[in-house]
Amino acid sequence: MDGEIRGPGEVKRKIVIIGGGLAGIAAAMRVAESGHIPHLLETRRKLGGRATSFDDPRSGTTLDNCQHVLMGCCTNLLDLYQQLGVLESIAWHEELHWLRPDGGIDSLRPDPLPAPLHQARSFLKMKLLDRSQKKQVRRAMWRMIRMGFAGRIEWEGRTFRAFLEDQGQSDHVIELFWDTIIISACNLSSSKVAAVHGLQVFQEAFLPGRFAGIMGIPDVPLRDLYDPATRIIEDAGGSIELGCSVRSIGFDGRRVCSVVTANEAISTSAVISTVPPDRLEKILPDRLHESDARTRNLSRFSTSPILGVHLQFSGAVTDLPHLILAGRPVHWMFNKGIDSEGRQHLHAVISEAEDWMELTEEQIVERVLAELSRAMPGMSDHELLSARSVKEKRATFAATAEIESHRPSAAPSVIGPQGGDLEGLYLGGDWCDTGWPATMEGAVRSGYAAAAAATGGAGLVDDLRPGPLASMLGLR
Ligand SMILES: Cc1cc2nc3c(=O)[nH]c(=O)nc-3n(C[C@H](O)[C@H](O)[C@H](O)COP(=O)(O)OP(=O)(O)OC[C@H]3O[C@@H](n4cnc5c(N)ncnc54)[C@H](O)[C@@H]3O)c2cc1C
Repeated sequence: MDGEIRGPGEVKRKIVIIGGGLAGIAAAMRVAESGHIPHLLETRRKLGGRATSFDDPRSGTTLDNCQHVLMGCCTNLLDLYQQLGVLESIAWHEELHWLRPDGGIDSLRPDPLPAPLHQARSFLKMKLLDRSQKKQVRRAMWRMIRMGFAGRIEWEGRTFRAFLEDQGQSDHVIELFWDTIIISACNLSSSKVAAVHGLQVFQEAFLPGRFAGIMGIPDVPLRDLYDPATRIIEDAGGSIELGCSVRSIGFDGRRVCSVVTANEAISTSAVISTVPPDRLEKILPDRLHESDARTRNLSRFSTSPILGVHLQFSGAVTDLPHLILAGRPVHWMFNKGIDSEGRQHLHAVISEAEDWMELTEEQIVERVLAELSRAMPGMSDHELLSARSVKEKRATFAATAEIESHRPSAAPSVIGPQGGDLEGLYLGGDWCDTGWPATMEGAVRSGYAAAAAATGGAGLVDDLRPGPLASMLGLR
């Protein structure tokens, strides 16, 4: 079979999608919507890739590999959740609770003032920074508004820290305010992350409007969000094969002709690969990956780790929904709720966790408890029933200033020394040129873009528009 199924008056192409993370699921949903036939192959026995869950025998519960947070500005991810019918499983939080180094808690919340002023009053009340430090932050925010989205171009190839220093931000303000947000959002500190992404976080989430910056947290295990995908894809005549690892992509000259797994060679003229760069390098023939401008630089991608720590206590330790630990080595605490026997589940997250990777679980738990007890002195009243740390050494690609220009586009170019890129090969994955750092939104964008390139069908959905005052001031 040549991978194409012909019906009366129509050509439905079979499109093989490699990888069942968010990029692969998004691509498969769009291929199905376009009337073509998605055939998704995933190594693991579940969907979700890096944003998924596992059964934990220690606590007897289903745990997410790590808390995954989204924001109102993640329009493509929200579109995917809507297509899957799981939007109601996202709990929205308008108020963000910051733990100060002195142990006090500040709350940042929007009010009815129009964007970009909607958080200004609350920010001014925060005791995290003194008056002159807040003035520094206001100056940088104002610059971001006035330069607009288009002004980011000027900062290409430089770090976000270079931008902050240019705006006169002190080390203390960078550490306590800017890095507290950026390390969690981009999994890299401001001294490493590309300025374009640092600017993007504030220009697209914090400044444009109330909904853009609202925080969404799934209130079911992550893997449950993807259950409806199987039926939708099967209804479109497609299929999802779990536990199926792709060994190589086959080419006839420079055109895709098959996908080879342990069991078979599947004929196809179109492949959407959504696997990370190191995996893609392995499944492409050596003789070809250098000849495609999109895959020539795969080995340049580096990664940044994240550590998630699940803690189960015998009783209620806190009633706060979450805590941002400003300027501390543990970055977030999420309250995952109290079960029917009164046991509370807390989840701590450490981003850019390089320094934690060699520690034992015992050492990790000890450090995390020491950090959290500063915020929750009552913690020692309850027994720690179980602890589980999940090290994700290759959690995300490192969105540095240097890598930006090497992030590949979805579609093969028809121009190039060898007659263009590899024909029929479309690329997705959070590391592609989505304009976003490594996030679920970036992954979905990449999947939508790859499906649109392969089918000519629908692609990305619109971004949120900044409010009228923010637009008038120059944000967009
Ligand atoms: C600990 C952690 C915390 C995070 N927190 C957040 C957060 O709060 N908010 C946020 O937006 N993002 C977060 N992210 C990032 C987010 O999870 C990723 O950006 C996103 O899930 C990437 O999706 P993807 O589809 O591009 O890649 P992946 O999820 O890596 O999917 C690729 C899939 O391909 C499969 N595969 C690989 N090789 C093959 C092969 N040869 N054959 C078949 N299948 C193959 C893999 O098994 C995998 O399922 C976090 C990531 C981690 C690890």
